[in-house]
Amino acid sequence: MTQRSQVPGDAPKRVLITGGTRGIGRATALRLAREGYSLVINCRAPSPASDSLLDELARMNCPAALLPFDVADREKAMAAVAADVAEKGAYWGVVLNAGITRDGPLAGMCEEDWDQVLRLDLDGFYNVLKPLMLPMARARRGRIVVMSSVSGMVGNRGQTNYSAAKAGLIGAAKALALELASRGITVNVVAPGLIDTDMAGTEDRERILPVIPMRRLGRPEEVAGLVAFLLSEEAGYITRAVIPVSGGIA
Ligand code: NDP
Repeated sequence: MTQRSQVPGDAPKRVLITGGTRGIGRATALRLAREGYSLVINCRAPSPASDSLLDELARMNCPAALLPFDVADREKAMAAVAADVAEKGAYWGVVLNAGITRDGPLAGMCEEDWDQVLRLDLDGFYNVLKPLMLPMARARRGRIVVMSSVSGMVGNRGQTNYSAAKAGLIGAAKALALELASRGITVNVVAPGLIDTDMAGTEDRERILPVIPMRRLGRPEEVAGLVAFLLSEEAGYITRAVIPVSGGIA
């Protein structure tokens, strides 16, 4: 059967997912595998989570490779992405998904918690996208999806670092969308609310649920569905958009 992302006789389109081994990234990988993409999965280092994902992708006959690097490590991230693109060619799609939180009120926030979040969640945009811009622009096609957060749209107490980084991503993505629009490359932002992954944790759910109009956490698959659509040919006229998946928070 010809998959949706493939024209008969063509190689499957290649998509890089940063932070692809757990949570939203993993759900996105499994969704894209069903749609016939070839996947490059990033995480910090090989782990039981990356092993089990690669096994599952292999069972689905999805061509997939692990590309481990720390998104916050500029030199290593840029070198890894540049080497992969030099060897295998430009990506069709990039899902800039890796992210962390280090929450706490600003008055008590240590420098390390501020810096770590900004270096990974915001600087990752530069570290990962910069080395693949020219090959993608030359190909004159492609899709970039940036994982922000409703925290970056409306702010969230205890998350000045995270809200700053995620708001910064929205600005960066909107600017990049303008730079790439004439090349046929779209850049869009997905802004999840509270999604049921390791990051969401298990504490405070009773306190949080009343502020979610739908009164439940989102499922990673509900974010993955939107990412898959934004990567598709059909989404070719959507760019510079910020789309919440938040049960009504934003
Ligand atoms: P998880 O914590 O479940 O998974 C994070 C993924 O990112 C893992 O695959 C992890 O791999 C990877 N990762 C972490 N640090 C690095 C790094 N330095 N370099 C490379 N990869 C790294 O997160 P979620 O799935 O919940 O979140 C995914 C994205 O969605 C994030 O950007 C997050 O900010 C955003 N988001 C999540 C929300 C939620 O409620 N869950 C809400 C709003 C936004 P490893 O195994 O190596 O750690």
